[in-house]
Amino acid sequence: DYQNYQAPEGALQGKIILVTGAGDGIGREAALTYARFGATVILLGRTTKKLEAVYDEIVAAGYPEPAIIPLDMKGATENHYRDMAATIEQQFGHLDGLLHNASLLGVLSPFTHIDLASWNDVLQVNVTAQFMMTKALIPVMLKAPSPRIVFTSSGVGRKGRAHWGAYAVSKFATEGMAQVIADEYENTPLRVNVINPGATRTMMRAKAYPAEDSSRLKTPTDIMPVYLFLMSDDAQQLTGESLDAQTY
Ligand code: NDP
Repeated sequence: DYQNYQAPEGALQGKIILVTGAGDGIGREAALTYARFGATVILLGRTTKKLEAVYDEIVAAGYPEPAIIPLDMKGATENHYRDMAATIEQQFGHLDGLLHNASLLGVLSPFTHIDLASWNDVLQVNVTAQFMMTKALIPVMLKAPSPRIVFTSSGVGRKGRAHWGAYAVSKFATEGMAQVIADEYENTPLRVNVINPGATRTMMRAKAYPAEDSSRLKTPTDIMPVYLFLMSDDAQQLTGESLDAQTY
């Protein structure tokens, strides 16, 4: 029952885990949670101030000192990701975990109103950037004893829904990318899975549903069990799966 998974203390001791979009929302909570269970987290995001605030919080709590990578995934090129992989290898020797969490909602609108520039931005951040980052990092991850990649999907990444346009398409692509990589690396220690967080109280959710009463939503803290499970030794056998972080 991974939705109620309870990780033993120190479950992620000594692991190096990169979290994208670590400055806010679910990514911020995942970074704090991984650090609490002993991981050294690499905080990647576009707003340095937010990353620094998470860094400070982790240090103040006495967890392992994190690293910060300010990066706007909208503009980053393959060179950025290659340099990043080289830096991680130099500094840590390997990478144990990669949580692809950052993504862009874009504009919700009827399909024929989707603006090409907005479509491109969403596909760039949610799909192409994740492809480039994963491609660059897999060699560094294969140096870890039990490497894990976790992608983030959505309900609209499994069934399309009116007006969810580029975002929904990008989440289907995310599910596909995870399956391709999982299948390719099945006979290695690398494990690749997907989380659908479900409705969660964050800025993105508020942007998508401005009129709803957000106090009734689950918080990022509530959905952390599955985020811990997939990075833990208890998920050793699991690959190519797409898990729900909550049930309704
Ligand atoms: P938020 O918008 O609250 O946080 C997203 C994070 O990603 C932010 O820290 C943001 O940085 C970062 N980010 C966005 N664009 C870029 C970029 N170009 N380069 C680097 N970092 C970037 O979203 P959530 O926490 O709600 O969502 C996290 C994940 O969960 C997403 O993949 C989302 O699709 C998924 N999800 C969320 C649901 C929900 O109900 N909340 C439901 C289903 C899926 P900054 O802080 O600088 O803006």
